Amino acid sequence: MRALYVGRFQPYHRGHHAVITEVAAEVEELIICIGSSQRSHELDNPFTAGERYLMISKSLRDANILNVYIVPVLDVNRNAVWVSHVESLIPPVDVVYAHNPLTERLFKERGYETRVPPLFNRTEYSGSEIRRRILKNKDWESSVPDAVVAVIKEIEGVKRLKDLARTDTE
Ligand code: ATP
Ligand code: MG
Repeated sequence: MRALYVGRFQPYHRGHHAVITEVAAEVEELIICIGSSQRSHELDNPFTAGERYLMISKSLRDANILNVYIVPVLDVNRNAVWVSHVESLIPPVDVVYAHNPLTERLFKERGYETRVPPLFNRTEYSGSEIRRRILKNKDWESSVPDAVVAVIKEIEGVKRLKDLARTDTE
């Protein structure tokens, strides 16, 4: 069986990693789509598709998970055709794991079996919360895999987020 998991991964965190670890152990192959792949350098979408790809692939390599394939997906800004757009980029999948209600609905309407994975420590393991903590100099490192800390350091991600939060008025 081949499964699909979709996210923006801004950044990839321990909640995503826990779901993917469980799902990858249950299926033959898992396809991960990096959604809104064209977005970067925005407060809500600070990291490029390539940076997010690196975060995910290094974390999976550290965990010795080898049956995951990553596919970046551009936005089409039309929910009604989004599933066909995703289908045009990935190999066939039998089941879609989604916690986001819109993602679940769109795949269900196209006839896919959808499964809702459990949430892991959602108060801390949340992209929005991690971006907020990075900006406020609070602990965010414990919410992401070690490889993600290393990638964000390498690309000076903390400085990038802080620069994005600045304005050009005093
Ligand atoms: P943001 O706050 O930026 O939306 P996010 O943490 O929701 O970030 P996404 O990339 O939007 O991350 O989520 C991808 C998928 O992972 C979604 O289906 C989301 O519901 C799910 N998810 C997010 N956090 C967790 C978690 N702690 N445990 C399990 N699944 C999660
Ligand atoms: Mg989300």
